[in-house]
Amino acid sequence: MRAWIEEGRPHLPVDIEPGITLAELTHRVQAARGRPLRIDELPALSDGDGALCGLWLATDDVDIILHAPSESKLHREQFILHELSHMLLLHDRVDDKVEYVTRSVLPDLEPATVIKALARDSINDEYERRAERLADVIATYIRSQPVSRFSEIFG
Ligand SMILES: [Zn+2]
Repeated sequence: MRAWIEEGRPHLPVDIEPGITLAELTHRVQAARGRPLRIDELPALSDGDGALCGLWLATDDVDIILHAPSESKLHREQFILHELSHMLLLHDRVDDKVEYVTRSVLPDLEPATVIKALARDSINDEYERRAERLADVIATYIRSQPVSRFSEIFG
């Protein structure tokens, strides 16, 4: 089901139906992008004034989602869904949103491997709002019951 797609907007061809799990969605996004997708917690993200909830790094051959630690499973899920939403909405192809990550945030990554990152530092930004809205939609899918065989046949 592609009900999540906004009319006329470019998107990754991924089905998202009620009852989908975060793991399954991650798997589908990875398959659609055709490269590995890693999700890691990065405590440094929550340090300092410009604290970030999450970050997506698109290197030449791998996608990495980094998220701040959270004791709330729902918060953690929302951080990840936000970054997955950027992928679903193809925001890495929007050139004016490319931001370069500083070594201070990711000291162990070679600068050359980090080609772009979308940082959730400005919630007023149009791309941030779109990603956050889609993350909310997907969160309701994850929290709803799978479509039953009965309603598939008779619904
Ligand atoms: Zn974002």
